[in-house]
Amino acid sequence: MKKIGLCVLVFVILCFLLPVVFTKPFQIAEASGQNTEKEENIIEGQTEQEYDYKQYNTIQLLHASTAEVEELPLDTYLYGVVSSEMPASFEKEALKAQAVVARTYTIYKIQNNSQKHEGADICDSSACCQEWISKEDRLAKWEESTREEYWNKIVTAVEETKGKIITYEGKPINAFFHANSGGKTETTLNVWGGSGYPYLQTVATTGEEGYTQYQSEVICTKQEFTDKIKEKHSDFTIDFSQANCIQVLEYTDGDRVKTIQIGNLSLSGVEIRTIFGLKSANFTITIEGDNIKFSVLGYGHGVGMSQTGADSMAKAGSDYVEIIKHFYTGVEVEDVS
Ligand SMILES: [Zn+2]
Repeated sequence: MKKIGLCVLVFVILCFLLPVVFTKPFQIAEASGQNTEKEENIIEGQTEQEYDYKQYNTIQLLHASTAEVEELPLDTYLYGVVSSEMPASFEKEALKAQAVVARTYTIYKIQNNSQKHEGADICDSSACCQEWISKEDRLAKWEESTREEYWNKIVTAVEETKGKIITYEGKPINAFFHANSGGKTETTLNVWGGSGYPYLQTVATTGEEGYTQYQSEVICTKQEFTDKIKEKHSDFTIDFSQANCIQVLEYTDGDRVKTIQIGNLSLSGVEIRTIFGLKSANFTITIEGDNIKFSVLGYGHGVGMSQTGADSMAKAGSDYVEIIKHFYTGVEVEDVS
């Protein structure tokens, strides 16, 4: 009996604790369904596997909240990803670009992070892998009058791009995307460091100004501003009477703040974004009386495809391949089915 008890205990530990251990804790998350922050979280030193589309015709999806693993056809899984990552009201070609990006990202994850989740290929948490929503939950969140039209649009976007993925030199790319670039996309180097990717370069994009994600503001008092920085840097001091007490030292190629002098500290734009919860690192700071105002352009890390940029390009007549080739430099869209 003792032996059985021990087996049950080990089984319980494997079922419930391992997914917790292998699931990365909360990273960047923001209160917008359209925001699609993706973190650099490749397990270093892991060898790449060859991709076989038929092998991954079904995927093992880990539900992060229940630790259950569900087997789903790959494209059925993608309905739940595309519909949770991009508004279904967006143009059909933008949704098709998102479907190809999601398929590519899924396959890249399976190839490069296969040890991340025990017994599963990918999980449904946006903070860890890629957001996914069940059809039932998705439909419930849409107005009844739009449910059928929206769901059909999502299914069509996935089906019309069946088997299509984005490759660079014959391999699936790490297909980052975000909500709104603010005019120019960003390299991974300027967001997460590392050596970067040849296909993730800074590119200019137009038409994003018309979306709500384009422009935002954060206002705080001088005292709140000082306190928030002091939480991270206890040695922080600033004399607001000095004309150059806040000064941008360097911008990235994507027009975001790379480094900024604030009082006695030199900080990265990415850190300021995190400290003050800014929608992007493309910001200007102005002092207005007792207040500090951040004026922010864009929404998200800025790497890879801008979703609103994709929608804007689709409105101007671009198809999904043109959209993908605009945001990812030197790539091909290949059929691997
Ligand atoms: Zn995951």
